[in-house]
Amino acid sequence: MWIDSHCHLDFIINEKNSIEELTKINNPNIDYIICPSADDSSFKKLIDLNKRNSKIQYAFGYHPLFLEGKDPDVIQKLVVYIEEYNPIAIGEIGLDFYVKNFNKDKQIIFFEKQLELASKYNLPVILHVRSAIDHVINILKRFPRIIGVAHAFNGSFQQAEILIDMGFKLGFGGAMTFERAKKIRMLAKELPLNSIVLETDAPDMNPAWLNPQESNHPSQIQFISEFFSEHRGLSLNDLSWQLKKNINEIFVFNKAIV
Ligand SMILES: [Zn+2]
Repeated sequence: MWIDSHCHLDFIINEKNSIEELTKINNPNIDYIICPSADDSSFKKLIDLNKRNSKIQYAFGYHPLFLEGKDPDVIQKLVVYIEEYNPIAIGEIGLDFYVKNFNKDKQIIFFEKQLELASKYNLPVILHVRSAIDHVINILKRFPRIIGVAHAFNGSFQQAEILIDMGFKLGFGGAMTFERAKKIRMLAKELPLNSIVLETDAPDMNPAWLNPQESNHPSQIQFISEFFSEHRGLSLNDLSWQLKKNINEIFVFNKAIV
């Protein structure tokens, strides 16, 4: 019924809890879980998870906050994995200027190099953008064929419209479930429904109803979707149909690799 368009399942599942966790996601409310990687230490783990359950779909990339100690040459590893394992997207990539001057130049180099790969291999991208939307938009203008998802969108209405015009869907999740998140709630209500995807970003971004000791989980996508259907005044069936259509405009899912 629902697709979690952004989840770090590799940060949730470990050797001890894997059977229990894989059983939990095997419920009919979850159709797919899109799992971007933070860096190459996730690549193999995500491939293995996909082998165990084909609901789990992987993307490969270097997250802007995981570049410490990495040289841009490491991107060669990404090329090998793209060619060998056919990810559904390049991600999670982008810019995070929230912490002032944190690796700014390096982030830009990694972002641009990974966009070049997305272009070369004709893959969508999963974007992480914080305090850098205009920078990201300016760089994306040089790659007009690239489409994708801007996860956890938190920009202005105008920035949203620019990204939508460029072929991007915007991801909404736990943040919009808080009453104080006025701007995100407004965006989630007003933006065209065909430009939105929903996500948990688990284990982060708890929705309002989880208490802080609990950690977020992809099974929350059902409740986030229910919240959103009420927020927009839509039936669950109509919403589910539209969200699947939106996802299918960006991603082509892999079958399990056997
Ligand atoms: Zn993420």
